[in-house]
Amino acid sequence: MRAEIISIGKELLLGEIVDSNARQLGELLAKHGIDHARRATVDDNTADISAAITEALGRSEIVFTIGGLGPTYDDVTREGIASAIGDTLIEDTDIADALREKHARRGRAWNEVLARMALRPTSAVPIPNEVGTAPGLRIEVGDKLVVALPGPPSEFAAMLESSVAATLAARSTQSSRSRTLRIVGIPESVIERRLEDLMQSVNPSVAPYVKPMEVHVRILAHASSANETNELIAPVELAIRERLGIAIFSADDESLESVVISLLKRKSQTVATAESCTGGMLGQRLTSVPGASDAYLGGYITYSNELKAREVSVARYDLAKYGAVSEEVARQMAEGAIRHTGADFAIGITGIAGPDGGTESKPVGLVYISLAGPRGVEVSKQIFAGDRELIRFRATQVALDMLRRELLLNESDARPAES
Ligand code: ATP
Ligand code: MG
Repeated sequence: MRAEIISIGKELLLGEIVDSNARQLGELLAKHGIDHARRATVDDNTADISAAITEALGRSEIVFTIGGLGPTYDDVTREGIASAIGDTLIEDTDIADALREKHARRGRAWNEVLARMALRPTSAVPIPNEVGTAPGLRIEVGDKLVVALPGPPSEFAAMLESSVAATLAARSTQSSRSRTLRIVGIPESVIERRLEDLMQSVNPSVAPYVKPMEVHVRILAHASSANETNELIAPVELAIRERLGIAIFSADDESLESVVISLLKRKSQTVATAESCTGGMLGQRLTSVPGASDAYLGGYITYSNELKAREVSVARYDLAKYGAVSEEVARQMAEGAIRHTGADFAIGITGIAGPDGGTESKPVGLVYISLAGPRGVEVSKQIFAGDRELIRFRATQVALDMLRRELLLNESDARPAES
């Protein structure tokens, strides 16, 4: 089963908006194991829309259009569909009545331009729009299907959920399932080398996706039943786990901060933070996890030298001697945070996030990240690439991973949970 998406609208072509709707529909098609090999974007005019639909119907069983269902003169998707399938437009009295009623309820005046939204090809069945006004359309063309969906993202998303998902489930003869393993601390190139042979596999397919300081490896399987997809995925997941070990920190949607908080809770241990260049980003990430209060005591944002000295007892002498961005200061920030909070672990971060402030010996991107705990203090020196935000994020990522690896060290199963 093949499907194609046709996104309609000048704003998309001009780059004023990104096609988030098509991305979302693409995900849904993948989830249902429907082959989706082509996507087009066309201008708001009847001829282009009609040509795109005719072409797509020549190749694929399901054709989606997105946008152009509103009441205005540039909303001509209905006309485009009618022209492509050789149908004419009629006014659907049920839609017209419903539109009038909706408008009256909202206390808005009716005008005849709005009546355009009640037009449909004679062979079309309207799809109710629960969030907005313009209905979607569903048109059987022989054994093929055209589905027209509205552009506004909230209306689009609601219609995917209320109607399209069920249509796809009914039409798809395949079940598909994906499993995403999240990896931190190994570069993508190394991961690709280690998984090279697995990445040749077609079903399940194995594909890496690079995120900032994180790589996701997705295993995607298609089969005729859910059981079979699981059987396809399991041995491949096992092989990947054997090759990447504890660099895999979670599967599917669990974030690194959430893994760290769970590990701390499981061991009834706590962490505190002392942040300079990340300005609380690490604390923010930790506190974004529900239930973090059992494991995260809190943190210091010690941006100035004065606060580093006063709040976490970094020696003024060392600040002057080594500079705020130094291994020594990072070490003392973590040690001070432990002493002042009584946490089991503390993390210190000090660095130069840029874009200014770098020197030959201390370039932009230089960050020292320290982890203090029962086994002493370790400091990691990093030189991150990227802009200010990325450097700051990368620093928090390394910090979380240092703590995660430390927490896993004494685990009998030195391997992240299977779930
Ligand atoms: P309306 O009734 O609002 O006119 P419509 O179905 O005619 O809806 P469009 O006019 O094409 O849809 O788009 C309405 C708005 O929805 C656009 O201004 C844009 O912000 C957003 N939009 C349209 N298409 C997309 C898309 N593919 N992805 C994300 N947003 C979109
Ligand atoms: Mg419109």
